[in-house]
Amino acid sequence: MTMASLPLSMIEESLDVLPDPVVLIDRRAAVVLANRAARTAFPSIVVGGPVAFALRMPEAVSAIERALAGERGIRIEFTARGRSERRFAMRCSALEAREGDRNAPAAVVALRDLTEARRLDTMRVDFVANASHELRTPLASLLGFIETLQGPAKDDPAARARFLEVMLAQARRMARLVDDLLSLSRAEMNEHRVPNGIVDVGALARQATDLLAGMAAENGVEIRCTTAADVDLCVAGEADELLRVAENLVGNAVRYGADGKIVEITVERRAGTTGDEVILAVRDHGPGIAAEHLPRLTERFYRVDAGESRGKGGTGLGLAIVKHVLNRHRGGLSIESRPGEGSVFRASFPALRS
Ligand code: ADP
Repeated sequence: MTMASLPLSMIEESLDVLPDPVVLIDRRAAVVLANRAARTAFPSIVVGGPVAFALRMPEAVSAIERALAGERGIRIEFTARGRSERRFAMRCSALEAREGDRNAPAAVVALRDLTEARRLDTMRVDFVANASHELRTPLASLLGFIETLQGPAKDDPAARARFLEVMLAQARRMARLVDDLLSLSRAEMNEHRVPNGIVDVGALARQATDLLAGMAAENGVEIRCTTAADVDLCVAGEADELLRVAENLVGNAVRYGADGKIVEITVERRAGTTGDEVILAVRDHGPGIAAEHLPRLTERFYRVDAGESRGKGGTGLGLAIVKHVLNRHRGGLSIESRPGEGSVFRASFPALRS
């Protein structure tokens, strides 16, 4: 059987399997067939209607006209402006005309949505630029101090001691950043692996409280940890990663909410929409966070106040790590905060069936 003699329904079924939109048009530029991906991407596409109804962009329309005039292998890119802007790569090509049949496909249009790939490219470029910038600042300061110690301050023991203190702080900042970059990359890499341990989130919260006791004391904060008694608080998880989540959330509450003096950690089990959930909530009574920042807090290097974060030893990566670890654990993060009233960060996990 040749391609020309294949029934249209079979071609349609085959094209429906493709992830990208494909449209066949007749010689009047009316749609003969639009595969499933095309119907999803362009809901206004109608079989029998002009293809230009759905692909209204002038670049696309003129490429289609060229294909109908017999041109093959046309490749263009265009931006579709709908509710959200999307960038498409489009290929179109004339098909061999079938004598006499006005409704036979005369050209094929294949599209690929580049929006997500472009967004990821931009994110990657931004990430490298941000990471380099964060490392370069302490590095520049270290280099400056080393030169001063080799030159003007060579024989000044008091200055040397002072400079070494600053150098130590800068080197520690770089080490923290490199640690967080590695944790983030590990969390991303493991995101699609099912965790294979069992973790008691109550015990985990108590462990995080102990680990951060020193930092809390330095900041004049009391951490109060309450875990539901006689309730199974176990989840499927990787203990190291989940401890990191608790440490990051409690660490942030102590760091940014120190004014509120008290940080409360609670762990409880609740009925969720798809079964029981274990919820780790960390509440502070600090200055809170304005609503416009909330959706962006888990982006890498996003900070409400970069100077304050750096001054408090932050890297801007903590909540990005939390997000990836929670994804791996099929968990979620919700943030509730109002300026002047403190914040609550809630990590939720599907509970193990008890
Ligand atoms: P950082 O290392 O800067 O703390 P995170 O990703 O952990 O990075 O947090 C991102 C930003 O979110 C912080 O810089 C801070 O501005 C804000 N933030 C996080 N937790 C709190 C909190 N409990 N109260 C106020 N702001 C917070």
